[in-house]
Amino acid sequence: MSTETRKSRYTVLKVPAYPTPEQAQLMEKTFGCCRYLWNQMLSDVQEFYAATDIHYIPTPARYKKQAPFLKEVDSQALCAVHQSLRKAYLDFFRNPKVFQYPKPKTKKARKDSFTVYCRPYHTGPSLRLTDTGLQMPKLGLLQVRLYRKPLHWWSLRSVTITRTKTGKYFCSITFGYEAEPPEPVAPTPARTVGLNYSMARFYVDSNGHSPELPPRMAAAREKLARMQRKLSRMQQGSKNYEAQLHKIRLQYEHIANQRRDFAHQQSRRIANAWDAVCVRGDDLNVMAQRLKGGNVPDSGFGMFRAFLRYKLEAQGKAYIDVDPYAPAAKTCHACGHVNENLPARARSWVCPHCGEELLREENTARNIRDFGLMAVTRQPGVA
Ligand SMILES: [Zn+2]
Repeated sequence: MSTETRKSRYTVLKVPAYPTPEQAQLMEKTFGCCRYLWNQMLSDVQEFYAATDIHYIPTPARYKKQAPFLKEVDSQALCAVHQSLRKAYLDFFRNPKVFQYPKPKTKKARKDSFTVYCRPYHTGPSLRLTDTGLQMPKLGLLQVRLYRKPLHWWSLRSVTITRTKTGKYFCSITFGYEAEPPEPVAPTPARTVGLNYSMARFYVDSNGHSPELPPRMAAAREKLARMQRKLSRMQQGSKNYEAQLHKIRLQYEHIANQRRDFAHQQSRRIANAWDAVCVRGDDLNVMAQRLKGGNVPDSGFGMFRAFLRYKLEAQGKAYIDVDPYAPAAKTCHACGHVNENLPARARSWVCPHCGEELLREENTARNIRDFGLMAVTRQPGVA
């Protein structure tokens, strides 16, 4: 019946890993080698390009002579560096507005990582999940806490090992499988919602609802601020200072986890409740700067949008990107009048054309929904 072909899909399980001291040492070495290789390749690409106008990324094997320590780590991890640098360049050339030009990696980065792809060797696949852990080349059997059993038709594709600044190790295990694409669900006005990003309320939807923000999230941020004040009174470089810095990093991690959990819960709830969701494709960094004129803590809304998109698409539902330059805020949803004189900070306004009293955030959300619906239902060739 369906003529659509089965599609490859991916699922990633990110699980904590517990390396032995020897394994941890080898991992550190691998992080260092991958960083070294990335930076070498990057500068060679630039040099080569400057001389010849050709983009060429040398292979890892070339570097083993000048840097024999590269031979001590898994060569697949080095191949993956080549692949990811290639992808970084491709992304940048295809879409320079979204992707940055590849940058050198520093030791100070938030986390270190390396990736190993599964290869089918004659002795069996290079990566294997066993009852006791994850079998990896060079590292051997790595103990992981698999909180979810992979389904039997999933096949292991790659493993990325990361270490956070606080010294925790994680394995992101990617599985691939073939699946039928979901039946597409056509958006209807009654089953479509618009979401407007709100600094204070996370979002406001086109029915005026916004999510309940758990008080523990605010409490965690306040605790972080207290910890940072305490740090500022300490002698830089002292033992106490370093200990406090470690506590602050743990607290940052805790807040990031809370934010991700919240984004997952909210996006799941909305993706299940509605058939289509319209969201404005704002650049959140620019918005934060415009609204507050400085560094604004990341609210997680960008992450929420990404989660929402894949959760909707997995069900065949539509995630509708609304043009960020469409006048969603200053249009009256009742009569369509565009109020060019709307003050930037007005919380509510009265439409000068029809007299409707409008709450700014709710009105914007309704317009986002209407603009999104209009964009998807408009037929080409029909006025
Ligand atoms: Zn009006």
